[in-house]
Amino acid sequence: MDRGANWIGTMPTADLHTHSTASDGELAPAALVEKARALGLSTLALTDHDNTLGVAEARAAARLVNLEFIPGIEIEIDFEPGEFHLLGYGIDEAAPPLVEAVERLSHARLERNLAILDRIAKANLPLDLDSIEAFSKTSYLGRPHLADLFVEAHCARTRQEAFDRYLGKGKPFYIKKACLALEEALSVIDAAGGVSVLAHPYSLFVSKDVLGTIFSQLKAKGVRGIEAYHPTAKYGQCVILERMAHERGMFVTAGSDFHGKTRPECGLGRTSGNKPIDIRFRDELVAALESRI
Ligand code: AMP
Ligand code: ZN
Ligand code: FE
Ligand code: FE
Repeated sequence: MDRGANWIGTMPTADLHTHSTASDGELAPAALVEKARALGLSTLALTDHDNTLGVAEARAAARLVNLEFIPGIEIEIDFEPGEFHLLGYGIDEAAPPLVEAVERLSHARLERNLAILDRIAKANLPLDLDSIEAFSKTSYLGRPHLADLFVEAHCARTRQEAFDRYLGKGKPFYIKKACLALEEALSVIDAAGGVSVLAHPYSLFVSKDVLGTIFSQLKAKGVRGIEAYHPTAKYGQCVILERMAHERGMFVTAGSDFHGKTRPECGLGRTSGNKPIDIRFRDELVAALESRI
């Protein structure tokens, strides 16, 4: 269904892809909810990387201000050539298979982080490695935090430059971390009562033809939706993704991928082309959640 360019309203009403301090976001879960409320959003999904530690706080804060809250997670999937992120919505964060998978991912992350830190130490770069003690060993530490260390040590001007020179795929301090296979992530989200959505499809880094084939394969495996609208893609490209998803009977979402000041291009409640996120995306997702068997 192509509604053209005018169907998005002028005011943001929802955000279905956000990060808090439980992963690499700037705002604590409750502060994120307050910001959403202040902007006039009626629905917020929290989708931290590889963990659900912020869900309880966000849920409680949302209840207080009468905001609809959708618990979520963004899981990294083993994939080449690009990055495959799978969003799980409407999950029960206490479901044992999800808890077990999240623990495993956290362990793999810790091992990978220690390996990168070891490599940095051996390279004798002037990074303040002690400052990461501020993150406990059990809490989330990601490459974006490590990138900040490069910036603080004046080895890079920005987070992005730190990725481009040191931490991105194929760069000297990149070390692959073990992540879930698609089938496993799907079964974990399913066991937690959730619905799976492919995040920002262009990060897969494949051509549009291949993308169409991948959408069909994902649908067959149980992925129900496509995040067609994301700030990293041009608006026209997002419209194409929406059409491709709907042609295959998949629903479509939109998100900001809000992280806070570190990604100023991703304002809360806004998506590709800085457009406010329309409530119909929330409606498509909620309809899918309600039709779960
Ligand atoms: P991690 O899970 O610790 O490996 O960090 C992954 C996160 O780092 C992603 O979710 C992105 O936010 C960020 N990231 C990964 N690759 C890049 C890149 N090439 N440029 C900028 N940010 C990146
Ligand atoms: Zn992130
Ligand atoms: Fe992502
Ligand atoms: Fe994200």
